Amino acid sequence: MRLGAIEAGGTKMVLVIGTEDGTVLEREILPTTAPEAVVPQIISWFSDRDISALGVGAFGPTGVNPNSSDFGRVLDTPKPGWKNYDFRGALLEGLSVPVGYDTDVNAACLGEVTFGAAKGLDVVVYLTVGTGIGAGVMVGGELLHGMLHPEAGHVLVAKHADDTAASVCPYHESCLEGLASGPAIESRWGLPAAELVESEKVWELEADYLAQALTNYTLCYSPQRIILGGGVMHQQQLFPLIRKKVAANLGGYLRTSEIADIDSYIVPSSLNDDQGILGALELARRAEVLKDVIK
Ligand code: ADP
Ligand code: ZN
Repeated sequence: MRLGAIEAGGTKMVLVIGTEDGTVLEREILPTTAPEAVVPQIISWFSDRDISALGVGAFGPTGVNPNSSDFGRVLDTPKPGWKNYDFRGALLEGLSVPVGYDTDVNAACLGEVTFGAAKGLDVVVYLTVGTGIGAGVMVGGELLHGMLHPEAGHVLVAKHADDTAASVCPYHESCLEGLASGPAIESRWGLPAAELVESEKVWELEADYLAQALTNYTLCYSPQRIILGGGVMHQQQLFPLIRKKVAANLGGYLRTSEIADIDSYIVPSSLNDDQGILGALELARRAEVLKDVIK
């Protein structure tokens, strides 16, 4: 079965043709311009390629609950033309194939569950630490939606006593994204994160904030594994620091086999930054299977 997938990001759209086993056959990248410009390009690219279904992992906030009237709409965004845009509706109309739709990070979580580091698990948190921080969450085999979708990148964290940097989140003085995203690191230390590799205190502080959040996800969602992706997590030295701090934060309270083997509990993404697009392929497969249920 030939399936289409879109990873719709703030700066670029990644389009892929692939099959249900996660094989990517063809790939195209388009800049994310206003929807009136880019959506016809997307439709034209897929129209020539004979797909049975399409899966979309989209930037948020966006309507992801199939039972809600805002399903498939981009919601509140400063990106010109996208606010309240019915993205899924336009694709459905333009391509006349079933369209699966979720957030980019829920798609990445699904990609890891289907093809990657969380295969076979059904309660999983996927966190991306990049320009923003976002979490995809699977509970009982279903991607978590709810009133909107998880916004776990904005959980509040306790500010470190020595950290005088201001949060880069316009909404929160001490949320994870505001203190630990790539732009937060750059604004605090005056250099892009990738140029601070040698500075131990940068990564100690980063791991401190990430570990606070992961401790809370562990306590709230009871995931069987937490996967960390995104540009900042290319700094592999973060992993041992985060694991040690999460274990210390838990203080011996959770005595599960997963926490006892924390190196297998908190792991890097395993799909070479293709977790989002591969998850979108799986959304397409699921949309094809469910085509008579979800219109
Ligand atoms: P986006 O979140 O925009 O989709 P990324 O996940 O690549 O894209 O995140 C970009 C952020 O990650 C930037 O703030 C950048 O400084 C940071 N980043 C990218 N590569 C690295 C790296 N190798 N090490 C540390 N930080 C990085
Ligand atoms: Zn915030």
